[in-house]
Amino acid sequence: MTIFFTVFSILPLTLFVVLSWKYSLFKRTWQEVYFADTPVLIESDDWGPGEALHAQRLLQLFACLETHKDSFSRAVVITADIVLSVPDIDKIQADPDAGYHRKLLNEVSPDIYQAMMIGIKQGVLVPQLHGLEHLNGQAFAKLCQLNDSRIAGALADPKRWNWESLDSPLQGHYVDGSKLPTQAISSEKAQTLIAMAALRFTELFGYPSFSTVAPCYLWNSTIEKLWQQNGIKVIQTAGYRCDGRDKQGHYHQDRNLIRVGDLSESAQVYLVRNVMYEPVDGNNNADTAYKEALVAYAQALPISISTHRYNYTRGVEDFQSSLQGLDQLLSAIGANIAELRFVSSPELGEQLTKEHTIIVNHFNDSHYMPLKRLSGFKKLAPFLWRLYYRHPKLVLLAYISGLIIPASLLCRYSK
Ligand SMILES: [Zn+2]
Repeated sequence: MTIFFTVFSILPLTLFVVLSWKYSLFKRTWQEVYFADTPVLIESDDWGPGEALHAQRLLQLFACLETHKDSFSRAVVITADIVLSVPDIDKIQADPDAGYHRKLLNEVSPDIYQAMMIGIKQGVLVPQLHGLEHLNGQAFAKLCQLNDSRIAGALADPKRWNWESLDSPLQGHYVDGSKLPTQAISSEKAQTLIAMAALRFTELFGYPSFSTVAPCYLWNSTIEKLWQQNGIKVIQTAGYRCDGRDKQGHYHQDRNLIRVGDLSESAQVYLVRNVMYEPVDGNNNADTAYKEALVAYAQALPISISTHRYNYTRGVEDFQSSLQGLDQLLSAIGANIAELRFVSSPELGEQLTKEHTIIVNHFNDSHYMPLKRLSGFKKLAPFLWRLYYRHPKLVLLAYISGLIIPASLLCRYSK
């Protein structure tokens, strides 16, 4: 009886202290968007020019996506982050002024481009701008002229070469990574690249990209401002922003925490990838990805699955294993998570900025009901889960103080 009395007299006092101490954090977390439907996205970087077999792989991927339907019978849609061009190495080498020259996706890989257009028409692929190219053109041209060993592969076999074989620092687009630390490109150069990318993207896909993800996750405030001026209103992230790499090649974060729905300095809405499905790397698989999806679901967050092109474009065994795993992951999500909604990244971005707006896939002109949100008391359980997964010190305090007991009960019974 004494223990009972002590616990129940201490709890309200502890709660009062914690509420006063962390009031602004609780308020900020409570004001975030909570989804009643569960948006599920597949974000896949690096689609663009490549070997002819990529076209076949895309079609097989579409066939798998078609078999998974959401609560409105919409198929899973892959947001394909498109690289619009590759270097024209012959022209670069022949240029006495060391200028950069490019070949566009539709010129160099017409079959891949056509496969993308099929996916767009079917509604299983929504293109999103990744970059005009996946490297820094000026730096690349200079290295070509110098016969630099870092691009020996490109010079030896320009037709079969692709940017994924470059040293990682050379794959950045909005930075020059030919020397470390990397250097951000000038605002003028960035404006030229972004304006040209916006134009070419619209020409290729019939509608502008109003969302993007930077190659290698390297961009800064200047780039965001220029994106904004060129119609880009949604930025896909991994939960942070890096503006360059240091002398040792390590990433430098200039914004180390981004939540879904946060705004950039240029008022763009940020999205965050929270499920890793990159099986070719060997660090994760369908099971680990499914666990991450459940964590996102508990918090009423969108489930945003990151899965790069290379998982699907290597040897047949790797491809089949990646595709089978993706199928397994989507089946597990479909079987165990209620009120699924398959959407693309630009669509989610629009839903975050404008509630109650019809979802429009601008690339094939299809329309879907808006995403429903949670409000009032229904937000309580996912709100507590957000605190639980984000703030370990708070969780420790909850265990020590006993607040974990009422919090657990609320999570269990307030849904
Ligand atoms: Zn990329």
